[in-house]
Amino acid sequence: MSKIKIMSENLANKIAAGEVVEKCASVVKELVENAIDAKANNIKVNLEDGGLRKIEIIDNGIGMDKEDAVLAFARHATSKIYKDDDLFFIETLGFRGEALASIASVSEVNLETCSKDIGTHVHIKGGKIDLVEPADARIGTSICVTNLFYNTPARLKYLKSEATELNNCIQFIEKLALSRPDIAFALSNNDKVIVKTSGKNNLLKTIHEIYGLTVSSNMLSINKTSDDFEISGYIGLPGLLKKNRNHFNTIVNGRVVRNNDINRAINDAYYTYKHEGFYPIVVINIETDPTLVDVNIHPTKQDIKLSKIDELCKLLYETIKDTLYKNLLIPDAIIDDDNNNDDNDSNLVNNVNVNYIKANINNNEDENIVQTAMDFSSNDKEENIIKNEEFKGLKLYPIGQVHGTYIIAENEDGMFILDQHAAHERINYEMIKKKFQEDKPTYIDMLIPFSIELTASDFVTFMENKQVLEDLGFKIEEFGINTIVIKSHPTWLTKNFENDNLKTIVDLVILNHKKFNKDRFLDKLAKMVSCKMSIKANEHLSKEQMEQLLNDLVKCDNPYNCCHGRPSIMKFTNYELEKMFKRVI
Ligand code: ZN
Ligand code: ZN
Repeated sequence: MSKIKIMSENLANKIAAGEVVEKCASVVKELVENAIDAKANNIKVNLEDGGLRKIEIIDNGIGMDKEDAVLAFARHATSKIYKDDDLFFIETLGFRGEALASIASVSEVNLETCSKDIGTHVHIKGGKIDLVEPADARIGTSICVTNLFYNTPARLKYLKSEATELNNCIQFIEKLALSRPDIAFALSNNDKVIVKTSGKNNLLKTIHEIYGLTVSSNMLSINKTSDDFEISGYIGLPGLLKKNRNHFNTIVNGRVVRNNDINRAINDAYYTYKHEGFYPIVVINIETDPTLVDVNIHPTKQDIKLSKIDELCKLLYETIKDTLYKNLLIPDAIIDDDNNNDDNDSNLVNNVNVNYIKANINNNEDENIVQTAMDFSSNDKEENIIKNEEFKGLKLYPIGQVHGTYIIAENEDGMFILDQHAAHERINYEMIKKKFQEDKPTYIDMLIPFSIELTASDFVTFMENKQVLEDLGFKIEEFGINTIVIKSHPTWLTKNFENDNLKTIVDLVILNHKKFNKDRFLDKLAKMVSCKMSIKANEHLSKEQMEQLLNDLVKCDNPYNCCHGRPSIMKFTNYELEKMFKRVI
């Protein structure tokens, strides 16, 4: 019996219109998704010249009989949806019947497929079937697209260079492979294999195959469930940063998706652990009731809308943040001379390889949260685990200051370099955040109250939101037209804090009034204040001041970064020093 039915016109119209095929990667996408829907677990993509010359997809799926093979090229033919209601319970990837027809209408296609030992070959050019003949029996389907856009010069013009088209295809296959570790993918261009996964249904192994060992051995596993969502997967340590968000791999119910709210939640969770403008590598699976997902807002189906998105973002944010927090990190600043850089690592931010020392904050039932590639590869990179408890008891002895900016310290284990501003900023940041928790803030009356004149609209905005500052111990009154006067401020506002900075705090309230979020505001405030209050570079420190700084830093919850994510301390172990000077080989 034929598996393919013609969609009702009504249903076809319900599906957002739009061009499905615009570049080589969209052809690859549609054809590979068809292969997945045909239950293939081995899919090969062979390109020539990045797909410009040829795109061939070979799968080991269920294949088609002659009738289906011909029908597959009819517009709105789909084996996946039959009636309107089904649209809302989409579980297969390629539900838009027009894909194959669209592709065939602008190219030349050779299809070889087989069902029940009877093979069929179909040749179609410019949408017209000109050959249907028996073919050898085979497993699955092979479809080969050549001469893309040969009959639509306008679109041909929009195809990019070979490199760009190839890159798009690679990115697509890599993301898809991460979403389906149970399928073996291979992508080659001009006979050179570029992506290859083994389909062993082990996500960490797939990450290893895509990103290489440096990445896979620095991933933390996450796992969390709420009423509506179940999240799992791996998040990269903050040392493995990339320059864009392409490596935020989010998968909802098996589908690779793109969603700005989700991306923001991930990025926010790494807040203070990384530089702004750099992004971690994550692979996160989200399972939820399909009725909460609307995938139909864009024809390429990557963008999704989710009901209860806020609940999901909160869950993601907290899970990632907790996981990072429990696996605090001190970069181990050894220059990696045996860096057998796996291809994909070239744009990693750290050219100094970062071996992380994991410091577990809880003492601790959660040890198995740190599950790394060690689990499957016999990677014998020694792992240096310092419990945070130990770090808190760590004694560091100052040796001196370099360029008035860095502090050199030592202990029996090795040598440390600190950025004095970053370290002090971290200390102040955590101190201020703790003060925010206090029920009864302590404050100081100012000798000379400070008045600030605002524009009319800023004044209104500020007065509406000033409670947040009052809760912290600021006393603020109205003082004439559009002017406020600050009469007292919290006690933690100390060194280097002159009136100018009070103005900055008021500006911060005004700036953040849209979608005001108290936690976010307080965090920004703490960052700003701690930066201003901290020792600057080019500031001479006495030995006592250095000692104080070292003592305070080791007591921090996260001594390793300033609140903006810059490193505050680096370690050179004795072994590394010896290795650098070839005392050991
Ligand atoms: Zn700063
Ligand atoms: Zn900073």
